[in-house]
Amino acid sequence: MIGLKEISESFLHLLFPHVCAGCGSDLISEETPLCMRCLAEMPETNFHLYNNNPIEKIFWGRLPLVNATAQYYFTKESLIQHLMHQFKYKGNKELGKQLGRLIGISLQQSEHFKNIDALIPLPLFPAKEKKRGYNQACILCEGIAEVMKLEIFHDVVVRIQNTDSQTKKGRIERWQNIDGKFELRNAGKIRGKHVLLIDDVVTTGATLEACGQELCKVDGTKISIAVLCYAR
Ligand SMILES: [Zn+2]
Repeated sequence: MIGLKEISESFLHLLFPHVCAGCGSDLISEETPLCMRCLAEMPETNFHLYNNNPIEKIFWGRLPLVNATAQYYFTKESLIQHLMHQFKYKGNKELGKQLGRLIGISLQQSEHFKNIDALIPLPLFPAKEKKRGYNQACILCEGIAEVMKLEIFHDVVVRIQNTDSQTKKGRIERWQNIDGKFELRNAGKIRGKHVLLIDDVVTTGATLEACGQELCKVDGTKISIAVLCYAR
């Protein structure tokens, strides 16, 4: 016999259908934003399982890291690009949190990420965060924290908007200025700790490097990096 609960759930589904953020197909449960088929199609790197992986190599000679990984390969015109777009520009925070959980599940299965003390989301420019309404790295952190039972430090490092005149500077210097200004706050919080720096995508690694350099200034702080996507 169909119970009242089933009827009201079906009715609610008719009124407010929940569909997969990847392919748009009907979802039975609203607990996950992605269907099983899309989940199976996600281009996992499995970098978290081995050392000297391509993400670690990006930072060789630039930033001392304990470990580094990216959960997925980023390719154009793909499922992951579609998901990134919804997460970053369409306000789908629940999807972002789920992607964070997927990172967390991978990290939990790895020997290399066992001794993390806290998560640090790569800060956005305050103006950008205000416009978007959220920092996508913070949303990823929420998902990861839920799985790994870790604290998130939001106030250890901030991103500084450069207000100097940019016009007199060369192109390289200007670019460094735009991307590369972070400032430590509350350094004591991470003293002697192993922190995991989180961002949505890594390409050249310049921004993560600049942020990591600030964290490195604190005595005995160890840094690892985990990002959602690796764009080659
Ligand atoms: Zn789907």
